[in-house]
Amino acid sequence: MKVGIMGGTFDPIHIGHLIAAQCAYEHAGLDEVWFMPTNVPPHKQHAPKATSQQRWDMVCCAVEGQAHFLPFDMELKKGGVSYTFDTVSLLRKEHPSIHFYYIIGADMVQYLPKWYKIDELVQLISFIGLGRPGYTLEMGQLPASLRHAVQLAEMPLIEISSTAIRQRKAEGKSIRHLVPDRVYDYIEGNGFYGS
Ligand code: ATP
Ligand code: MG
Repeated sequence: MKVGIMGGTFDPIHIGHLIAAQCAYEHAGLDEVWFMPTNVPPHKQHAPKATSQQRWDMVCCAVEGQAHFLPFDMELKKGGVSYTFDTVSLLRKEHPSIHFYYIIGADMVQYLPKWYKIDELVQLISFIGLGRPGYTLEMGQLPASLRHAVQLAEMPLIEISSTAIRQRKAEGKSIRHLVPDRVYDYIEGNGFYGS
């Protein structure tokens, strides 16, 4: 069984995340993609605006009814700073028969050399990298030691970020269709991001 892990802050989850996951799923012939909200991401300067519960609920809304996409709460349950190395080590221990892939956008591919214990991490898991407007996605930009661990998949470039969505809400603009309808209803219904 082949499983893709789509990790993110998901503050909020948006269609860029879903399209990236779908393209990785098709590219690598995955059986499932598990959407895993980070608890405290190591690389972000600011705490998420939505609560962990809200980020979890939005991920559940986004994948509902799609049998090959599942919400996965390992990092939220564990608490503390979410280091991918720790998560992947645990995943491998708990599911020895599953082959895991970690799905990341081009901004994260660029940042990969700085990830905690990256040299050990690439011994445990391979990465699927997807394009993102504003970021180049080339093997040449990676140190030679990491190139074997990353495969690049095609995706229609989607110029959407959670930051831009929060910004739009703060400015009183609509975010309809930038997030799945159920996520839209959840945000509007619960009145956060300045709803
Ligand atoms: P923020 O602006 O708060 O950083 P984000 O839109 O970058 O939010 P994250 O939760 O940080 O979303 O990202 C989770 C993963 O999804 C990362 O690997 C990121 O590169 C990827 N990703 C996010 N948006 C896109 C997009 N539009 N296209 C491709 N990959 C994306
Ligand atoms: Mg981001």
